[in-house]
Amino acid sequence: MQKAKIGLIGLAVMGANLARNLASKNVPVLVFNRTAAKTDEFMKNFGSDPCLQAAYSLEELVQNLERPRKIILMIQAGAPVDAMLDTLTPLLEKGDIVIDGGNSYFEDTRRRSAKLAELGMEFVGMGVSGGEEGALHGPSLMPGCTEKAYVQLEPMLQAISAKAGENGKEPCVTYIGTDGAGHYVKMVHNGIEYADMQLIADVYTIMRQVLCMEPEEMAKVWDEWNKGELSSYLVEITANILKKKDGETGKAMVDVILDVAKQKGTGRWTSMSALELGVATPTITEAVFARNMSTYKEERTALEKVYAELPEVLEAAACCRKETFTAEEKAQLLEDLRNTLYAAKICAYAQGFNLLGTASETYGWNLQMDQISKIWRNGCIIRARFLDDVSESFAKQAGMKNLLFSDFFAEALKKARAGWGRVVALAAERGVSVVALSSALSYFDAYRTASGNANVLQAQRDYFGAHTYQRVDKEGTFHTEWME
Ligand code: NAP
Repeated sequence: MQKAKIGLIGLAVMGANLARNLASKNVPVLVFNRTAAKTDEFMKNFGSDPCLQAAYSLEELVQNLERPRKIILMIQAGAPVDAMLDTLTPLLEKGDIVIDGGNSYFEDTRRRSAKLAELGMEFVGMGVSGGEEGALHGPSLMPGCTEKAYVQLEPMLQAISAKAGENGKEPCVTYIGTDGAGHYVKMVHNGIEYADMQLIADVYTIMRQVLCMEPEEMAKVWDEWNKGELSSYLVEITANILKKKDGETGKAMVDVILDVAKQKGTGRWTSMSALELGVATPTITEAVFARNMSTYKEERTALEKVYAELPEVLEAAACCRKETFTAEEKAQLLEDLRNTLYAAKICAYAQGFNLLGTASETYGWNLQMDQISKIWRNGCIIRARFLDDVSESFAKQAGMKNLLFSDFFAEALKKARAGWGRVVALAAERGVSVVALSSALSYFDAYRTASGNANVLQAQRDYFGAHTYQRVDKEGTFHTEWME
């Protein structure tokens, strides 16, 4: 057997597609899967490609790889990765590189990196975004490792990654940082994705419940929006989703899908990390809460009856029975909604990048925001035209603390603010919950306000716990005897 350039362990959908992607770029891959039947099936389907060969034991895999060995794990995240490393590392040598391409928790990656470093081996925690299609045709790749390991992998990673940029040739991969940096960046990418999706769902709610639009009519609006600054994969698929009919009933697909959302945990991890690091990510976290809330289906159904007589509910129902907006008003509200979605999206990304900034300082990763936004421009779920502007803003305004300081986005936010307020107020008036849109607005308003309301909190803390406070008019730490 000719020695392969890379080994790949785990032939479920992600691993199989990544192996095929590597082979399509003429990289000889030796695959292995714990359950041999899956390897047989893979080879039956794709084994005619001379770049794809199979091993049926880890020993066979290790013996037939070029040195230093490069082995990518595409197996279930969590304990299986530790178990695999325990079995695999005794078979490896110093200088060999193990890449974990699964959705591992970044703290696990930090721990594994340290463990392999002790053995003289390189461990790469690589975020792979774009789902199964991305894995096959070109994902966005976020490798976290030593620069020494990255240099050895770069040509291969650049070959298999998605491409972006005006010439469509810029690889969606870059060196991210050491140890857990890659998996952390992938985690925050997913957190932003949660927010992006919830923002779209909130806008849909207003279109449906306030403007009483039918899915087909909505689809046209989303298609139109996809031509401008909102142009993105998620907006594009939303239009397609709204056009789709259910084969069984003939109804719109969205109308037959139960409003209960699942989650795999990366949004929750992002929020947990934000809480841990003391970073405000309300829109991302509200998006996680919204999925939690969606699972209370039974209670929501019961409570709808308890509060059925609320004037907002009655009015909303009555409004939906008769046309309450003139064509002009409807056009204005749709324009407000477009600007609102764009502004709220800026805030969601501002929160994600803010978190990355703090994590970078905390863990010593030196994350480059302009580069990270660049590699998200294709291959991943949050790919969007908008990311060109994000990248340019970070490049132009070096050291920018938050995207809200970007000259470019500040203009958009100023333009959107009035309509954003109208949208959120209208939703509140009609009793419609738009958690992501409204939390983003509160985030923006809080962030752009020099004098907030924490003076009251500090006074309360000092009152009940003598926690002290600082004054606006002189330096020092103070305490007041609040009770005479
Ligand atoms: P998966 O369902 O997460 O995992 C199945 C694979 O893991 C199988 O090959 C299975 O082998 C192997 N496995 C499980 N436990 C093992 C163990 N103890 N030892 C050895 N192998 C073990 O597969 P997937 O959906 O293809 O995902 C692979 C990774 O990519 C996961 O970490 C997942 O979270 C991540 N992922 C990412 C995306 C994305 O968009 N980036 C999408 C999906 C998944 P057997 O066949 O022997 O059971």
